[in-house]
Amino acid sequence: MGDRNARRISELVKRAGNNECADCGLENPEWASFNIGVFVCTTCASWHRSIGTHVSKIKSLTLDRWDDEQVEGMELMGNVKSKARYEAHRPACYRAPRTGDPPVLLEQWIRAKYERQEFINVDKQTYLENHLEGELMKKARVDNKYYLRKFILSDNSLKYYSKQNGREVRATIPISDVNVCLAPQKMKHDTGMQLTYLCEGSTRHLFVYHDSGEDIIRWYNAIRNMKLNWLMVAYPSVSAEELVPYLTNDFVAEGWLSKTGPREGDAYRRRWFTLDDRKLMYHDNPMDAYPKGEIFLGHKDNQYSVQEGVPRGHKEQDFPFSLYTPNRNFVLSAATSEDRARWLSAIGAVLERAMRPQDNQSKADMEAAQSNRKSSRSSRILSWL
Ligand SMILES: [Zn+2]
Repeated sequence: MGDRNARRISELVKRAGNNECADCGLENPEWASFNIGVFVCTTCASWHRSIGTHVSKIKSLTLDRWDDEQVEGMELMGNVKSKARYEAHRPACYRAPRTGDPPVLLEQWIRAKYERQEFINVDKQTYLENHLEGELMKKARVDNKYYLRKFILSDNSLKYYSKQNGREVRATIPISDVNVCLAPQKMKHDTGMQLTYLCEGSTRHLFVYHDSGEDIIRWYNAIRNMKLNWLMVAYPSVSAEELVPYLTNDFVAEGWLSKTGPREGDAYRRRWFTLDDRKLMYHDNPMDAYPKGEIFLGHKDNQYSVQEGVPRGHKEQDFPFSLYTPNRNFVLSAATSEDRARWLSAIGAVLERAMRPQDNQSKADMEAAQSNRKSSRSSRILSWL
């Protein structure tokens, strides 16, 4: 009897839809929630467990015993049907997690989907309201202390205020210029979130968190929603689904590298590098408000390349590599061979990728910033896509 059910379950999980985790897409799930009727991976199963059995009852496909009724329940539901039910009204802006995404994104996705049932009940989608106001802990520009600051997202912009409940607006950031990414590892905070925008031609980083994961993910998706609405007005002929990839960028690569100055014989200095789309930034410290330098990465056919080693005359250190651009060459060095391979592959992939119209605009913005001229916002909006 038990053997028969074990066989039925092991056949069921091979079916299309069931063979990928219902929540993050990882292949070959080893667990299932038998009251919801979904097959999930080990990581998602542990989130289901931590939410509690009032929401989800988890069993191992191979280690636990399955009775007839439970197997029949899995047969009746399964990942395809449950997605149609629990994600029936998922808004296009809401980011669905993939394997390896930050834990807070995964946890809040699972809670939103099954515990709060936000994608069944449209009334619960507070991130769609086009107005969000609240307090976030924001890192000070000059030190590592965090202070409670008021933020308001409305009228196609994000504002933040100088003091708690203060009236003085510190910055009004047009939604077109905002990028947001979750940064729990770098910030050493589960709900850490990095906002990046252009401030007079230079990139500015803001670091915020909130004690509640639900709140931070609400801000994250509200910013995505506002950006989507702005893009839909700017590009009425493009569908929402096609605009979704442009809402927020996760950083392609980040980490410590050493970098020399422009002259032969210049010493190496340790810098924190961040690769954001075609923009390679370097900083003294991972959580600096402004990068020390920003390098635009164009296409390989336009005199951009990256390779192991140093140009003749330059000092070697650890695992060096060189980035060549039309204006300047950069001599860099990674601490390990694996790390160098990671950077060569990440930068190499960007140089291979065809330039899009908005890439030309960010190049123009960065060049304008480097020559201390303010960039023209109106031209940026027109050539965004
Ligand atoms: Zn999963």
